[in-house]
Amino acid sequence: MENTNIIELKHVTKQFQDNGFIAVNDFNLEVKRGEFVTFLGPSGCGKTTTLRMIAGFDIPTSGEILLNGKDISKLPPYERPINTVFQRYALFPHMDIYQNIAFGLKQKKTPKDQIDRKVKKVLSLVDLEGFEERSVATLSGGQQQRIAIARALVNEPEILLLDEPLGALDLKMRQEMQIELKDMHDKLGITFIYVTHDQEEALTMSDKIVVMSEGHIQQIGTPEDIYNEPKNAFVADFIGESNIFSGIMTGKMKARFCGGEFDCVDDVPEGTHITAVVRPEDVEITKPEDGMITGTVTSVIFKGIHYEIAVQSGKNEMEIRSVRAPKVGEKVGMRIEPDGIHIMIAEDHTNRFLVDINEDYRLAYNGQLLDASLTKLIKGSRREADGRVVDAAGDVIDIARTKIEASIQPEDIKMTDNAEEGLVQGNISNLIYQGSHYLYVIHTDLEQDFAVYDEYLWNMGDRVGLIMPVEKMKFSMKKAK
Ligand code: ADP
Ligand code: MG
Repeated sequence: MENTNIIELKHVTKQFQDNGFIAVNDFNLEVKRGEFVTFLGPSGCGKTTTLRMIAGFDIPTSGEILLNGKDISKLPPYERPINTVFQRYALFPHMDIYQNIAFGLKQKKTPKDQIDRKVKKVLSLVDLEGFEERSVATLSGGQQQRIAIARALVNEPEILLLDEPLGALDLKMRQEMQIELKDMHDKLGITFIYVTHDQEEALTMSDKIVVMSEGHIQQIGTPEDIYNEPKNAFVADFIGESNIFSGIMTGKMKARFCGGEFDCVDDVPEGTHITAVVRPEDVEITKPEDGMITGTVTSVIFKGIHYEIAVQSGKNEMEIRSVRAPKVGEKVGMRIEPDGIHIMIAEDHTNRFLVDINEDYRLAYNGQLLDASLTKLIKGSRREADGRVVDAAGDVIDIARTKIEASIQPEDIKMTDNAEEGLVQGNISNLIYQGSHYLYVIHTDLEQDFAVYDEYLWNMGDRVGLIMPVEKMKFSMKKAK
């Protein structure tokens, strides 16, 4: 029976009665016996709700949960061979450690000598031998969490669920406990389902990662799969630091993005609109004349072993990780090997571009003012009498560190042959007939590619202006570093 599925979720959906909110949407997963599976995703994506359904604290609105092939969706928690460790340890403060761990066994009327033996065994498992008589109050956060784990393990569950169990610990303790939990998993041979929003934690601990967003599974795979072959831009962005560019295939295994043309290893048809993902460690800094693209260094931060470097190249920003530190303001070249470029077929043709905040704290693009309000974009911010914009805390917005991304759909952009009329100018570099319209790619003077739908036939190389109405743009603030 090696390697059979211990747990299977089939089309599991959870809609909450009170607010109608769908927290988990058509969740399908197979977990093998003995696996270490991690649910990874931002806060609110439905991780805890999924775990609670596996544990039996919540019942799915629809779908099935199978344990060893049998539907358990309606079984109460105590009839499932499953125990949960929560982020808040929830130990009984008035009981000593022995009593805390023995609590469940006593309820089940387990004989005293068996309880003694089991408590001793799990205390040694969590490295707290001899702690039986200590009171909860004398333990550190890390020790309390070990007791919470011991209390779950004493029931000898087939599956241990851990919901952000290390979330309340400081970094050093957390890293120590990550290693210990992994050891424990290897020693016990039972199935762990672990929840975290921390991608590093997920990558180091898991056999299998389930990346979630807004109640949906985005990707299931090994840490290597998820890191090296993210299935979409969400996963790429969420896992590790990534440079994500929109671009286009310009030939056989040739892609253009970030103002350059690169050889790549993915054979995607010419003309396909793509998303290119480049890991910061896969960009090599060279002399400007040796680079495939060039740019100016805008920041260098020392991270202990390597430097984190930001380079502005036209309108694009490249994050680079390197052991060599260039100087801020230095002009550099950048090279990316073909296998350092991961090409994904773009899910849509949404155009995204960074807009500027000028000295008057107004949004601008290509030197032209945009009639959009900065204060509306930054929660709690307001404009002072002198024109400066301050945030909710009253601090002046740091223009250099605040990035505003605009997006606009291809059908909302119009091309004009009177180029100066446009918000930005460029040349048509690709055209693809898509049935009802042509998809044009315009390579702008700011070294960015825009996708535009137009029903009329233009020519390759035509010089055009792009008319982009502000009311059709969506703005969002990118996280400041
Ligand atoms: P995560 O653990 O990934 O942070 P949760 O599973 O706790 O996310 O929650 C997912 C979503 O479901 C959230 O938007 C949350 O507000 C909502 N939610 C959770 N529990 C309930 C509930 N009992 N009633 C209504 N909405 C809920
Ligand atoms: Mg949660």
